Amino acid sequence: MSVTGDVRTAVATLRRTVADLHRELTRYELVIWTAGNVSARVPGQDLLVIKPSGVSYDELDPDAMVVCDLHGNLLEGDRLPSSDTAAHAYVYRHMPDVGGVVHTHSTYACAWSARGEPIPCVLTMIADEFGGDIPVGPFAIIGDDSIGRGIVETLSRSRSRAVLMQNHGPFTIGTDARDAVKAAVMLEDVARTVHIARQLGDPVPIAQHHIDALFERYQNVYGQDSVPVTGQHRPGGLDG
Ligand SMILES: [Zn+2]
Repeated sequence: MSVTGDVRTAVATLRRTVADLHRELTRYELVIWTAGNVSARVPGQDLLVIKPSGVSYDELDPDAMVVCDLHGNLLEGDRLPSSDTAAHAYVYRHMPDVGGVVHTHSTYACAWSARGEPIPCVLTMIADEFGGDIPVGPFAIIGDDSIGRGIVETLSRSRSRAVLMQNHGPFTIGTDARDAVKAAVMLEDVARTVHIARQLGDPVPIAQHHIDALFERYQNVYGQDSVPVTGQHRPGGLDG
C-alpha cells in the first residue's frame, strides 16, 4: 500500500498539525522526556499519522512524523512509530467517529490512575467536557491489543472522552487531533483541581440531571461550529 495523490496532501497537512500539537503537550506540561503522543486519522483512509518513538519533542518537525496503517504497520517514515501506536490504531479501528487520540503521563491524571479511582463529576467543567465521572480502564501491558481494547471498552460505556488506564495514565479521544489534545489538557486541569479539593474535604457531587443538562448544552449549543459526529462522543465545544 502506498500513499499517493490527494491522500498525500492530507498526510502532509496532518504531519504539520500533529507535529505542532506535540508542542501543546509540552506547553501545558503534560509530558516529560518522550513519554506522550498525539495521532490523527487521515480522513477517509485506513491511515494514521503519529509521533516516532523515542524522539525529543524539540526534534518533532513535520518530516519526523510517521504514517501507519490502522494495524500499526509503518508505511512512511525514517523511524519506528511510537510504541503506543498499536493502542491508537485499535481505537481508530473500533471507534469510527474518532479522528484523534492522545496519550500522556500527565501527573495528576496519573495519580488518579495509580489509585484506580475515577475522577468524580464535581465541577461543571467536568460535566461540560466529559459528561460525568472520568472512568478508569483496566490494567494492561504494552505489546498486544489489551491497552486499545481497554480504552475502547471503557469509553464505549461512558460519555467521557478521557479514560484513566489503571496504573498507567490517560488516553483521550476527539473528533480530530486538536480536540483530543484539548481533552488531555482539560483532563489534567480537572484532575489537579479535584485532587486539591480533596485535601480539605469531600467535593460536593453534582445531581445527575444537572450533569445531563450541562453536557447537552455544552456539546450541542457551544459545539455547533464543530463537525457533528454520531454516537456518544460528540465534539468538544468552543472554549468558554
Ligand atoms: Zn504510557
